[in-house]
Amino acid sequence: MHRWCRSPLPERSAGIQAGMQDDTTETIEALDTIILGAGIAGLSAARCLAEAGKRVLVLEARATPGGRMRTVATAQGPVELGAEFVHGRPPELLALIEEAGFALQEAEGQQLCFLGGSVQPCPEDDATWSLLDAMAATAATEPDMCFDAYLARGNASAEDKARARGYVEGFNAADAREIGIASLAKQQQAEDAIEGHRAARLERGYQALAEYVLSRAQAAGATFLFNTAAQAITWQQGTCTVRAADGRQWTAATVICALPLGVLQQQGAMCFDPAPAAALAAVHSLAPGIVQRIVFEWTERWWAASHPDMHFLFVRGQRPPTWWTTSPRASALLTGWVGGPQAKVDAAALVQEALRTLEQVFERAPGSLDGMLKAVHSVHWNSEPYTLGAYSYAPAGAAGAPGILATPVENTLFFAGEHTDTTGHPGTVHGALRSGLRAAGQVLAVRR
Ligand SMILES: Cc1cc2nc3c(=O)[nH]c(=O)nc-3n(C[C@H](O)[C@H](O)[C@H](O)COP(=O)(O)OP(=O)(O)OC[C@H]3O[C@@H](n4cnc5c(N)ncnc54)[C@H](O)[C@@H]3O)c2cc1C
Repeated sequence: MHRWCRSPLPERSAGIQAGMQDDTTETIEALDTIILGAGIAGLSAARCLAEAGKRVLVLEARATPGGRMRTVATAQGPVELGAEFVHGRPPELLALIEEAGFALQEAEGQQLCFLGGSVQPCPEDDATWSLLDAMAATAATEPDMCFDAYLARGNASAEDKARARGYVEGFNAADAREIGIASLAKQQQAEDAIEGHRAARLERGYQALAEYVLSRAQAAGATFLFNTAAQAITWQQGTCTVRAADGRQWTAATVICALPLGVLQQQGAMCFDPAPAAALAAVHSLAPGIVQRIVFEWTERWWAASHPDMHFLFVRGQRPPTWWTTSPRASALLTGWVGGPQAKVDAAALVQEALRTLEQVFERAPGSLDGMLKAVHSVHWNSEPYTLGAYSYAPAGAAGAPGILATPVENTLFFAGEHTDTTGHPGTVHGALRSGLRAAGQVLAVRR
């Protein structure tokens, strides 16, 4: 194994500050685990380890916890900039929400499609589901292939194939010419097992849940340093030194690296010395996904006169192709979603395109919606330096990569995060949460 990148490690060491309001310092040798990243994976791992009596330090580059769980308060209620839905009935996540005492609202309402020039209830889409159902048999018996290659083999109509491709690309933030059917089939099976067709929202927003886990971890004794970007890890079996971008460094017996896939893929963003070769090869075999999500906050629910129960609206062939309201909660918020290759568009241009799409779909005069637009809320996750992606997917041939990342490296380095999920739920909050708990369990197995 050799070093993965060339940034030199300075000699300087620092003690850890145990909490911002408390200026006591601890000796760096006392730490069991340093956790990199306070997204839901890092937070859950920190809480689990601290509650087991381990001495934990979490380094988080941003000023707040939650990573891709970020909520802004508006006059129309919480607006999610990252994760929004609880997909299905994932037990760990539901247990956490219940423990926190947060209310969940089941998402429901009409599914509408823009077809033949008018908005109407979506017809049954049996063809798309048949194509996806049949994929499992192919994935079980043949070498992995990308979704487009799978579609090319079948004799479904071009229209049905385009619908299935749009669904896979939009939901998985993926390119159908890359995403492998082995991971897709596993995901489909895993979703079926937790009633994945259901979706719900946290009434207070997802970020409040991250803050709750932070408070539990802190109450159990974990120390968090915000505005502290980790930059390098030097390690050997049983000891790791992590250096932050500002030169401070800390030593612990183990490290859980819960940084996003995009950050790990960025040359020079995180240096490992020595490089854990198999884990880094796995990192580079996965794809970070691409999404643009824009939330339009209007002065009024102008669509409600004609479509009061609208929840989802599908506008195939235009951008964004997927829209939703906050149904059943009435608000003047409309979210537009575009994932995969179609999301490779300038963010400001997408806002204009989205307005024109809505005007066309709802038969409004050009420019007539602009005056009712109060604010546009969005984050370009693919260019946020501490995320650099939407959520991960496994290209053909890479379905085993999360399993490699979930394997401890010499019982010293552990990886967590949605991209390390091995249970068929990558790219989700519950997959990330589960990965954090898994990594904490692995640390506890070596540091009893
Ligand atoms: C637009 C969008 C919509 C989504 N919608 C849903 C949804 O509806 N339902 C769902 O279940 N999932 C959804 N997801 C996916 C979900 O948000 C993620 O899978 C999950 O939040 C990832 O958690 P994580 O802990 O693995 O990573 P993150 O949340 O990304 O956490 C990683 C942390 O590491 C920090 N960090 C980065 N670099 C450094 C560094 N050098 N040093 C220290 N810290 C660093 C980051 O600041 C971040 O806090 C969505 C994601 C996006 C982008």
